[in-house]
Amino acid sequence: MSTQKEIIEKYPLLFKKLRSGQYTFECGKGWNHLIEEVCFKINDFFEKFPEYNENFEGIIVVKEKYGELRIQGSFPDIVYDFIKEAEHKSQNTCEYCGAEGKMRNVWGWQKTLCDVCDKDEGIDPTFKPE
Ligand SMILES: [Zn+2]
Repeated sequence: MSTQKEIIEKYPLLFKKLRSGQYTFECGKGWNHLIEEVCFKINDFFEKFPEYNENFEGIIVVKEKYGELRIQGSFPDIVYDFIKEAEHKSQNTCEYCGAEGKMRNVWGWQKTLCDVCDKDEGIDPTFKPE
């Protein structure tokens, strides 16, 4: 599975304005495969329909919010459908390890985690591991 840095480097046009800088997203690595999948679809769409790419400014933010993946920027409607699909999948995917997970309350924070990561008392829900 690719690291966040590898995904960002693979799709420079998508991430030219990423808020968190050049090397990471603002979420755990368990969602990397979802992010990579949606980046592939967006990139593939722009290659097939370059006219849609003219006003595309790039993805501004990739982050976790209320236990879900959020990918924000200004996109054509059809691209939003790809993003919604990835965000929906994140609701059942552990943010830390990528296993099947569900929404939990961790120290007052909503996090989507698997049983194993949920039992790890060393987990800091405010920490975003790469
Ligand atoms: Zn996990």
